[in-house]
Amino acid sequence: MTEHIPAQPDPDPAGLPAAETANPFAPSDGEHRSLPAPAGGDRPSARPRGQRQDGEADRTDGTGRRGRRRPARAERPVELPHDLHFPPVVNGLDFLASAVRHLPQNQVGNEHRDLKYGLLHLQAASEVLLKARLEHEHWTLVIDRVGEKKVTAANFIKGDFSSVTPAEAVRRLRDIVGTACIDEDDATRLDDLVKKRNSFQHYGLSDNQGELNTLAGDVLAILVRFLDTELLPRLKEKEKERIADDLATVRDGLKSIEAYVAARMQQIGTEITAAGDQAHRVVECPTCRQMALLVSHEDGADACLFCGQAWESSSETTEAYVDGVIGFSWHDIAQGGESPVHDCPYCDQDTLVRGAHTFTDPNETVDFCFNCAEPFTGLTNCIRCGELCALPDDEVMCNSCYRSLVESD
Ligand SMILES: [Zn+2]
Ligand SMILES: [Zn+2]
Ligand SMILES: [Zn+2]
Repeated sequence: MTEHIPAQPDPDPAGLPAAETANPFAPSDGEHRSLPAPAGGDRPSARPRGQRQDGEADRTDGTGRRGRRRPARAERPVELPHDLHFPPVVNGLDFLASAVRHLPQNQVGNEHRDLKYGLLHLQAASEVLLKARLEHEHWTLVIDRVGEKKVTAANFIKGDFSSVTPAEAVRRLRDIVGTACIDEDDATRLDDLVKKRNSFQHYGLSDNQGELNTLAGDVLAILVRFLDTELLPRLKEKEKERIADDLATVRDGLKSIEAYVAARMQQIGTEITAAGDQAHRVVECPTCRQMALLVSHEDGADACLFCGQAWESSSETTEAYVDGVIGFSWHDIAQGGESPVHDCPYCDQDTLVRGAHTFTDPNETVDFCFNCAEPFTGLTNCIRCGELCALPDDEVMCNSCYRSLVESD
């Protein structure tokens, strides 16, 4: 997929850049980030600030921005590495390994107090790794507004540019690079983490830990898959050896988080089964995506057994489920899509969702009413008004249509 983008300059003859830690691709807290760029030992960024190669004082203003003075002589051509640039991968893996050390370890009930740092580092890892792949495709893909005057290879090396937002990085990976290992669901989960990060960076960790743990597990799984398919195959053997330890930590961490979620879900599943009257009204939770949302007969008592998220009314739960689990939004309606929400033939509320699944048999598709807290099968559309109804086998029309036909005769 590189044909529409000019090829990168020649491979760096020096091989691996010397100053690996000088290129952390460190994400910052703003929407636009200035990324330190690939730094070779003899590159401009390796010079101490305030010291130009020609001996003149640097005109930085303390923010790293330079004055408008023209360079005294033509800048020498900048060389960008052709191989996957190694330092961002190392740096991303370092964040990832740190994240899994902070995230909860396998035992149920042993939620780790460092969840916040685990998530922050996970988000940092995600940004660095996704952008490393973009940079490998072409360095300009990491830059927010490529059309700007100051976008030059030299400025990229110096880190003097605004980098893309995480959401745009994912979009470019999918639409331009053609990365197949991130699907729509993955993109949403990565975006969920960005939103959480922004929120708890400012307000602290107020969300339910179960939800955050699942999110962490999902994002970690996405990133490990991304490493395996998009980054590791592009590394040299020697480089792979150098990150082997961090990679092992990350793989163990993923297993441990998956085991944690699985163990809690098993516990919850046992409780649901033991309760006897719950399995048929437990559906997937739109917040944590576990099959653990217990829909209640009482209004305002729907809550997830895994993450604790609760909803105020049946309509709210319906809306959240349709949006988060079915993946249908008002945008789809505007595009002419048919809403999966219908009037329930039993309670007359518009809280019946077609295409739902329950704990009883997650593979069976049912119509679920969030007000009745019941799944239904065999509902058909009345041939006259189109409303969903429960009709005996030999009938094709709902009661009210039948009545109005009789009356009009
Ligand atoms: Zn939940
Ligand atoms: Zn109903
Ligand atoms: Zn009808």
